[in-house]
Amino acid sequence: MTHEVPPSLPPADAAVPPRGRAPGGSPDAGPAYPAAPPAASASTEPASTASASTAPASGPSSTGPAAAEEADVIVVGAGPAGSATASYLARAGVDVLLLEKAQFPREKVCGDGLTPRAVKALIGMGVPVREQDGWVRNKGLRIIGGGVRLELPWPELSSYPGYGLVRTRLDFDEILARTAQKAGARLLEGVTVTGPVLDDDGRITGVTARSTADARGPERSYRARVIVAADGNSSRLSLAMGLSKRDDRPMGVAVRTYYTSPRHNDDYLESWLDLWDGPRQLPGYGWIFGMGDGTSNVGLGMLNTSESFGNVDYRDLLRRWLAGMPAEWGYIEENRTLPIRGAALPMGFNRTPHYTRGLLLAGDAGGMVNPFNGEGIPYALESGELAAQFIAQALARPDAAGAERVLMAYPRALKAAYGGYYTLGRRFVQMIGNPKVMQFATRHTMPRPALMRITLKLLANLTEPRGGHATDRVIHALSKMTPAA
Ligand SMILES: Cc1cc2nc3c(=O)[nH]c(=O)nc-3n(C[C@H](O)[C@H](O)[C@H](O)COP(=O)(O)OP(=O)(O)OC[C@H]3O[C@@H](n4cnc5c(N)ncnc54)[C@H](O)[C@@H]3O)c2cc1C
Repeated sequence: MTHEVPPSLPPADAAVPPRGRAPGGSPDAGPAYPAAPPAASASTEPASTASASTAPASGPSSTGPAAAEEADVIVVGAGPAGSATASYLARAGVDVLLLEKAQFPREKVCGDGLTPRAVKALIGMGVPVREQDGWVRNKGLRIIGGGVRLELPWPELSSYPGYGLVRTRLDFDEILARTAQKAGARLLEGVTVTGPVLDDDGRITGVTARSTADARGPERSYRARVIVAADGNSSRLSLAMGLSKRDDRPMGVAVRTYYTSPRHNDDYLESWLDLWDGPRQLPGYGWIFGMGDGTSNVGLGMLNTSESFGNVDYRDLLRRWLAGMPAEWGYIEENRTLPIRGAALPMGFNRTPHYTRGLLLAGDAGGMVNPFNGEGIPYALESGELAAQFIAQALARPDAAGAERVLMAYPRALKAAYGGYYTLGRRFVQMIGNPKVMQFATRHTMPRPALMRITLKLLANLTEPRGGHATDRVIHALSKMTPAA
């Protein structure tokens, strides 16, 4: 995948910029892109936020008494996308405010599985991923389907490490948020963003927010020259800017829970292509990931191309699937440690454009989950890095028109990186939505390990960007030939 990117940012250990830069300050020594408008003229408040006041947000872990009314950049949401964006921006010397509605540590519904693509992104962000730091490594993917069980090690590549990881999102997201904080981002936890602040041209110049702990409490405004929506699948901020989900793009729904199990230290991620309740095939796909802490993360998901999408009780489906598992694995009610929870997986760029009127979208807010395998974390991290690169360059432009030109190039870079691959993914999802096609594919590919090794590279998007094995070149050629949309 090639990225159309501005020159690289400083490395992870680059000097941390001072916090609380004066409003309008430039991230470099050059002349500044015009500062956020002064408070008095800042906002055409949307109806829902018209009550904005200047009362301080009571985000309990606000990092300083000046509690940052202004910044160069505001990032909404401190999930993987937001923390990556804020981290890279801070490392580039940009004054960045990261607003998160929850308090860390906080749970997030996820499979907790990290492929080598995610590991690479973590390493790039400067997150230590040693086992002594609590990360549990895996060697590859075990696929179970069509009566066959196949263990496929992660491919040996120069561009990606040969191992994956697992880590609960309870830990994982806090680690990333603290990484951003350490880099110099100002993180405010317990602050819910309620809407955009717009200028007369409909351009976003800030956000309104209130303390999460006080839903009826006062709102306050935060202003910045650029805003990033990294607020996940629902992305209320994008919605308020008129960016709704595209229904011509795939969407998944998945549920998961944890069970204490002797399989907790499985060194392969396990993926089930077909689910059975006795002789009856159930809709959907499943996973079992050993968490290394005495539990397994067990879940299943379904795509909106499936007939059963939206018409089934996912919790009941999970119970029926698990009822057929060997008793010694322990996937029974008494061993369940958390409620069964579900959430959506927005895929294949299901919200576009990724930049408009001062707002960039990163991660799930921009629908960046990989349609081939439902993996979203690496794309959240990578799009955050990309967004930061474009924003840092835009802020250093001497005039607004120049800055706008740079920001407009962010969606093009995303398309160049993932567009063709996601289009292929959409076609794949349409095909496997038909159970007969899926059965045929499973029956004919699973017994062929060599073919499955290539399939793994395609599904997990793990190829050498240049050169590499012939199969890598075929996958690239296919992604390039397929129109990015
Ligand atoms: C069941 C399930 C299993 C999955 N398993 C995997 C997996 O194994 N591996 C993988 O790579 N991906 C997996 N995914 C996908 C992955 O979870 C997402 O793609 C990823 O979390 C996207 O990161 P993000 O930062 O874009 O969004 P999120 O992780 O959703 O983060 C958004 C953040 O914004 C905050 N926020 C939201 N609204 C506001 C607001 N108004 N004000 C302030 N803050 C706000 C939220 O609190 C949250 O912290 C799974 C998804 C599901 C549903």
